[in-house]
This record gives sequence, structure tokens and C-alpha cells, in this order.
Amino acid sequence: MMPDHDGGERDYICFQKEQQRRWESLCLRCGACCGAFDGDPCEHLQSESSGRFFCRIYEERFGIRKTVGGRLFRCLPIREILHDSWPGREACAYVQRTKNILMEE
Ligand code: SF4
Ligand code: SF4
Repeated sequence: MMPDHDGGERDYICFQKEQQRRWESLCLRCGACCGAFDGDPCEHLQSESSGRFFCRIYEERFGIRKTVGGRLFRCLPIREILHDSWPGREACAYVQRTKNILMEE
């Protein structure tokens, strides 16, 4: 019987998708990383009646973006700004998670 390469690749892709889903599900959708607390948020940030936020262009979000006030900035993956300083970062689930991991080491 031939080895099932396609099956292995499918399993790997499923595993990667599941890892991605778990990572994304940690987000509290507080909007802090998009400027919700600094008075000049990204123009693509949308608030909900629940008090949470979402990105109107989430699938194409990375790259040069503009705030409501017209300031240009670069939208980056959260892992690239975890150690930077920005309003609300202390409440970010990923910042907290990283701190906890470092404390456990
Ligand atoms: S483009 Fe980036 S900064 Fe703007 S709302 Fe979307 S995720 Fe946030
Ligand atoms: S600051 Fe962190 S928890 Fe809040 S929306 Fe951004 S990634 Fe999600």
C-alpha cells in the first residue's frame, strides 16, 4: 500500500488551521491594538453595541493604514507589537498570555 502523503498534508493543514483558530479566539476584541483608547483609532475599526470591536477589512488588514484623523501607520500582526508601548496594551489577552508564559519559565 502507498503511503498516504495527501492525508498527512491534510492533517497538517487541519492542525495549522486549528492552531490559528485557537490563537485568534484568545482576542478579547477590545480594540486597543487598533487605537480604540488613544483618541485616534484606525479608520477600519468598527464598534459593536456589545462594546467590542471588529476590523472591517480583517482578511486584508496588514500594511499601511490610516487613522480617522488621517495619520498613516502600519497594521502589523499582534505578535510584532507585543513588547511595544501602546494605550490599552496591559489588557490585551496576548500581552497577558506572554507575560504569564515568561513568569512560568
Ligand atoms: S486595519 Fe489593522 S489597525 Fe485597522 S482596524 Fe483592522 S486590524 Fe485594526
Ligand atoms: S489589544 Fe489584544 S485583545 Fe485587544 S483587540 Fe487587540 S489583539 Fe485583541
